[in-house]
Amino acid sequence: MFNKILIANRGEIALRVIRAAREMGIKSVAVHSTADSDAMHVRMADEAVCIGPPSGTQSYLSIPAIISACEITGAEAIHPGYGFLSENADFVQVVEDHGLKFIGPTAEHIRVMGDKITAKDTMKALGVPCVPGSNGGVPDLEAAYKIGDEFGYPVIIKATAGGGGRGMKLASSRDEMETAFRTARAEGKSAFGNDEVYIEKYLGAPRHIEIQVFGDGKGKAVHLGERDCSLQRRHQKVFEEAPGPVIDAETRARIGKTCADAVASINYAGAGTIEFLYENGEFFFIEMNTRLQVEHPVTEAIFDVDLVREQIRVAAGEEMSFKQEDLQVNGHAIEVRINAEKLPNFSPCPGKITQYHAPGGLGVRMDSALYDGYSIPPYYDSLIAKLIVHAPDRAGALARLNRALGEMIVDGIDTTAPLFNALLQEEAVQTGNYNIHWLEQWLEAHTGPE
Ligand code: ADP
Repeated sequence: MFNKILIANRGEIALRVIRAAREMGIKSVAVHSTADSDAMHVRMADEAVCIGPPSGTQSYLSIPAIISACEITGAEAIHPGYGFLSENADFVQVVEDHGLKFIGPTAEHIRVMGDKITAKDTMKALGVPCVPGSNGGVPDLEAAYKIGDEFGYPVIIKATAGGGGRGMKLASSRDEMETAFRTARAEGKSAFGNDEVYIEKYLGAPRHIEIQVFGDGKGKAVHLGERDCSLQRRHQKVFEEAPGPVIDAETRARIGKTCADAVASINYAGAGTIEFLYENGEFFFIEMNTRLQVEHPVTEAIFDVDLVREQIRVAAGEEMSFKQEDLQVNGHAIEVRINAEKLPNFSPCPGKITQYHAPGGLGVRMDSALYDGYSIPPYYDSLIAKLIVHAPDRAGALARLNRALGEMIVDGIDTTAPLFNALLQEEAVQTGNYNIHWLEQWLEAHTGPE
């Protein structure tokens, strides 16, 4: 096992990894920008190294600075968290070239899954069902029209390098194709440096269901069921739950096995998430994330596992600590993402926290790097806390979420917490009867069109 690992991230996810390391008796090294000198991950780690100025590109994304921090401190492995360098295949290569261990899959697997066209081709070949659409990239407008005519409108044009909801454009009819096609290409080029796009049939009312997989890198893999992340704003998840309200044990076992077999056959190592749209009882693959997800705690709750510990174990060459038959669903878990944002427009709202109180009690987990008097810097993602609740059933989890939100105090800034108080009053949320468009429609009805 490693003696010391470095966490190439900040905020709640850096704390999450430090906590797992400490329980395993592993020393942790935090890296931070000058804007984060007072951050909780810096305080909580065994050692900290300043790696650059506030801008992410010059600090948390600076590969030379992170490698130097490893060398200075003698850290043997790097956990990337999510975001930043977590899905950067070149980074993984550099880490390995320096004789260090990357806590995650191989550069090759990240590369294959990071390009959505290659990912789709790979998954299709492994027997995973995909959204109908173009066979690979669509080179020009003429080809795009052909696909639109073949599959029927609406269609969605997606940048192969896209992510975080960017580089995706809807064409509801033939008239909208030209603008949508050109915009998706331009966004792909400007945000990801790659203008290749592909086209999918646009599904009208699907749910977002994703399967958590875990591989040992030597041909063994398991699945840890699904998470339903259908409540989204601008294609970004805000509320996630496990198990999915509409997935039964037989369906879980079937799609889970398909996914576990697929990643086992490519010798995938560590945690991964295979994302699907689910409509009329059918799964359609959209993408695979080759890292720990923001919403991993709901899976940890219902299976009573520590996914970060498992990632570290597998990276150190140890066996996985669970087998498929050990993994039985226990109860229901919900996570809500608390962002430093002002409603109703979700405008970023960094600033000083004048009072902070984390909710607690039975079945409540608060993953956050906040503390009294902390100043949230304006340079990074606005996620400041994840509130996770676990109860024997879904109704119990909703009641617990309501109770925990009532206990939470984050003063000095605006947060998205009031959104969840309002959502808990909605019948659709109470019954779990929603699809990926429900929240957008609800927001429009409650705040007027943006
Ligand atoms: P990203 O990598 O940017 O997150 P995804 O491919 O994972 O992009 O899609 C993000 C979200 O966009 C999905 O959860 C879903 O809400 C919506 N979406 C993607 N593909 C389709 C589709 N074919 N039909 C309808 N909605 C889609």
